[in-house]
Amino acid sequence: MNFEAIRQQEKENLMPTYGRFPVALVQGKGVYATDSEGKTYLDFTSGIGVNALGWCDDGWVKAVSEQAATLQHISNLYYNPVQTALAEELCRLSGFSKVFFGNSGAEANECAIKLARKFGETKAPDCKRILTLENSFHGRTVTTLAATGQDEFHHHFDPFTEGFDYAPIDDMEKVRAAVTEKTCAVMIELIQGEGGVFLLDPEFVRQLRQLCTEKGILLIADEVQTGIGRTGKLFCFERYGIRPDVVTSAKGLGGGLPIGACLCSAELGAVLSGGMHGSTFGGGPVVCAAARYMLGRIADPAFLAEVEAKGAYLQEKLRTIPQLTNIRGMGLMIGADVKPETGLTSLDVANLCLKKGMLVLTAHKAVRLLPPLVMTREEMDQGVAVLRQALKEATA
Ligand SMILES: *Cc1c(COP(=O)(O)O)cnc(C)c1O
Repeated sequence: MNFEAIRQQEKENLMPTYGRFPVALVQGKGVYATDSEGKTYLDFTSGIGVNALGWCDDGWVKAVSEQAATLQHISNLYYNPVQTALAEELCRLSGFSKVFFGNSGAEANECAIKLARKFGETKAPDCKRILTLENSFHGRTVTTLAATGQDEFHHHFDPFTEGFDYAPIDDMEKVRAAVTEKTCAVMIELIQGEGGVFLLDPEFVRQLRQLCTEKGILLIADEVQTGIGRTGKLFCFERYGIRPDVVTSAKGLGGGLPIGACLCSAELGAVLSGGMHGSTFGGGPVVCAAARYMLGRIADPAFLAEVEAKGAYLQEKLRTIPQLTNIRGMGLMIGADVKPETGLTSLDVANLCLKKGMLVLTAHKAVRLLPPLVMTREEMDQGVAVLRQALKEATA
């Protein structure tokens, strides 16, 4: 089917919720994908941080297809050895004690929110409020939209879930003022991804950890985007030198299949008891086989060190493009602003790159790069050359 036919089929049959780039991808291998017209693209998106090993990695395909051919779904009524093996690996590698599996980032956060509120009850009946940060992003369910600290997400779907307060990032005074007797948890992204690739200040994070400990409340790290090797450690909290009480994970965990995980400390392990939470699909054998394969490849110190080194390499190369400024990031989660004098928006840049056969993301004003963690330096050089040429032509 050609692109126009696909576009028409979408227009006639899908709810128009997505603003899509005018390309239909039909096949991929490694860091390259092919569209319906046979054009290839170099990928700096990983399907928004999901395809951490690129498209159709041989070992990943094998792990998924073998499990699909063995036992595709159980339901959580019965024991599931693929789920238990993944849970053991994830706990061992992360240093947490218990995990719950859902199907997405938003669901991982829903679990964290339920856990925090149930935990709050043990302190006081009305200790149920959760503080999040301005400009954050925590998901698209009604509750995780409420948790998201951006006003633009707080329209149309009211009444939203109550019980969220917001404080500006890196402002300990405002955070202190916002934490009350009714606060049971603070939920943060260590690097705000959708918000524009903003790294929290390490000193702020350290003080926040201290505040939560002093108050006996939970620090929840939403690592849906930053986790599973993206920043050069299995989890970004390791790079900040702190340990949250609860961590959520999703995007890169399944390498392309939908899985979310909510991890917690030993102390919190029994907070959600029988019948309090669940999921039909959560932790199914196929997604768990995929995630086990992903961890097997990514949770390797040499692999993670390469992610960090390649991230530094890519940032350095991006700094040589004159139209870009404020290059920032950690590992292979990188943001760059387009200089205002170019008159170009980040979306303009993404479209220019697309025309030249390269996929990049935007996050508000930033061009956001989340390349597959397996991308080589040579492939990064190719991408930087495309970006340089696109910006040069557009500002000539
Ligand atoms: C993507 C994202 C989510 C939502 O994940 P879904 O799988 O789309 O529900 C939540 N938090 C953060 C930090 C994210 O980047």
